[in-house]
Amino acid sequence: YEKDAARLERLNLVGEMAAGMGHEVRNPLTTVRGFLQVLSKKMESQNYKEYFQLMIQELDRANSIITEFLLLAKNRPIRPKKIDLNQIINSLRPLIEANAVLSNQTFEIQSVELPFLEVDEKEIRQLIINLARNAIEAMHSGGHLLIKTSYSGDEVILSVHDTGMGMDSEMLENLGTPFISTKENGTGLGLAMCYSIALRNHAVIQVQSTPKGTTFFVHFKRSQNFGKLNA
Ligand code: ADP
Ligand code: MG
Repeated sequence: YEKDAARLERLNLVGEMAAGMGHEVRNPLTTVRGFLQVLSKKMESQNYKEYFQLMIQELDRANSIITEFLLLAKNRPIRPKKIDLNQIINSLRPLIEANAVLSNQTFEIQSVELPFLEVDEKEIRQLIINLARNAIEAMHSGGHLLIKTSYSGDEVILSVHDTGMGMDSEMLENLGTPFISTKENGTGLGLAMCYSIALRNHAVIQVQSTPKGTTFFVHFKRSQNFGKLNA
């Protein structure tokens, strides 16, 4: 039953996304088409540059929507294997730190020794990258990004904490709904991907948000995620 429910939930998500996909991809394409039409009529005008910039921006946007959508919709089977979550976080450190520093932020990792998890490494990397990216994008005037692991015996918890502006209750309620974004160049697909990855890897995402910051918790339950002792 649980598997059926999970499959259904994922199908719903993909279906919901496919519906939004049409609009989201058509809008930037229509914009570009419009500017191309204008350009073809006004080739003497000196304002080309702005048009070209907008066209490129919109094409890039369409491109990242398609890329993220395909990552999510691809029905590839997950490949669970034994991984050390701390090792994955450490391997992402240079990437995350570079982005944090570029935005005037500090970055810290706090970890405790963990049991192995049986999850899809590629997907968990993507999950961490998406959460870290959102955290960095939420801290406009500097801040501190903390990625933490903890272990209680029943579960391994990964948390991504930022000192950003947080979210209002409406955003919190709609978290993970594809194409909902408060960013000018956002796709609104990052968190949908996170929830889908969590679902596929038997993890549960929980969020705490205040105007002083946001924390995303990813819970990996012992019963479903820890490697078998004699495996
Ligand atoms: P995108 O980043 O492209 O907007 P996401 O799915 O990654 O799409 O996030 C959706 C929305 O959730 C964001 O636009 C933002 O409003 C909100 N959000 C996500 N993470 C955070 C965070 N750490 N702090 C504040 N808001 C966040
Ligand atoms: Mg994002």
